[in-house]
Amino acid sequence: MAIIVQKFGGTSLADAEKIRRAAERVIKAVKSGFSVVVVASARGRQTDELIADALELNPNPPRREMDQLLSTGEQQSVSLFAMALDAAGYDAISFTGGQIQMMTDSVHTKARIKSIGAERIQKQLDEGKIVLVAGFQGIDENGNVTTLGRGGSDTTAVALAAALRTQECEIYTDVDGIHTTDPRIFKNAAKMEQVSFDEMLEMASLGAGVMHPRAIEFGKKYGIKIHVRSSIKEEDGTIITHEVPQMEDIVVSGATVQKNMAKIDLVNVDNKPGNAAKIFASLAKARVVVNDIMQTEVSGEKANLSFLIGISDLTAAKDAIEQIKSEINCEGIFIRDDIAEISVVGVGMRTHYGVAERMFGALAKAKVNIDSITTSEIRISCVVNKNQADEALRVVSTAFELDKPAEQRAKS
Ligand code: ADP
Ligand code: ASP
Ligand code: MG
Repeated sequence: MAIIVQKFGGTSLADAEKIRRAAERVIKAVKSGFSVVVVASARGRQTDELIADALELNPNPPRREMDQLLSTGEQQSVSLFAMALDAAGYDAISFTGGQIQMMTDSVHTKARIKSIGAERIQKQLDEGKIVLVAGFQGIDENGNVTTLGRGGSDTTAVALAAALRTQECEIYTDVDGIHTTDPRIFKNAAKMEQVSFDEMLEMASLGAGVMHPRAIEFGKKYGIKIHVRSSIKEEDGTIITHEVPQMEDIVVSGATVQKNMAKIDLVNVDNKPGNAAKIFASLAKARVVVNDIMQTEVSGEKANLSFLIGISDLTAAKDAIEQIKSEINCEGIFIRDDIAEISVVGVGMRTHYGVAERMFGALAKAKVNIDSITTSEIRISCVVNKNQADEALRVVSTAFELDKPAEQRAKS
């Protein structure tokens, strides 16, 4: 029997009624002949509440204990979901990540999946059961519970689809699909029918919280068609899939804002081979994920180096820099934790010009100052003041007509 993985996000499971509605979706798939594996997130805002509980007791909680705590949210969801299915007359069994051998590395709070033992799930499916797997969590080789980073249940779902060798993965959420930008900020953002893995990976990495970036990486690697859709409405949502030639006709597919960032500037570092390597080795040792590195030579002797990090890594990054500051002869460290990054993304940028001009022009018109700019082949990002972030996203979205379906937008 064909297997389908269906993932339900937290808002889609917030109360008993919503769990029942989600269960109906699962039952519908069973009735159409699928063996169903359900991945569930913690209900409502439970993860946020657990984090707040932890911080009340300890401003810097041990990461291992955070994982022990946060994983309980998803565990509750799957057992309640299984109870709802049982009440509807369907045989269902729930598992934690550890119980299905969702093996990860040991980087607590942002672990990466290494392997999945699909046998236990397959056996239960073969017995005709609906299998529910707690999202967002795994175990390391020493049996410690780990979590995959905020939004990580998407990754559990796509990784399970890969492990079970099925191409069908549905992500049920509180929006009706992937929009050109966050509809909570730009109300008229158009829904996309499809988006390429590469664009979605950029968008997810740059702040489009609707999908966890690692989920897209798995999807691309294993060729999983990911269908992001509403848990309330019946209509199709957005398919994330391989790039097709028509996608290049669209200049900008989407825009994003990332608000939980900090920028570190290292001023007048000795300009000699090996220094950049030392800085990033120290950050890597502290397990800080670094984005958007910029280095400029000030003179033959000195260089400035800047980079962006997630704000939750700021303390670790500061400590890491302090440790090598004298070794690299850094004369000043500037930290900005009041920034946001606005990005536009599109595979069409490879073949169209004028994108940068249009983006910078829109920001200038709205009197939004640009702190720094970075680009890749398919994106342009500007760091701006956090208090202007939403406005910046709106003006950029308007400039690229992201309220219209792709085929109705101007080509240049
Ligand atoms: P879930 O709990 O289902 O995982 P999330 O809150 O993680 O849901 O993701 C859905 C939210 O992502 C939406 O409510 C929306 O505000 C936000 N979002 C950000 N960018 C986008 C986008 N480009 N398209 C759709 N939703 C987006
Ligand atoms: N519950 C986790 C979070 O809120 C994981 C998820 O929802 O995907 O980040
Ligand atoms: Mg999510």
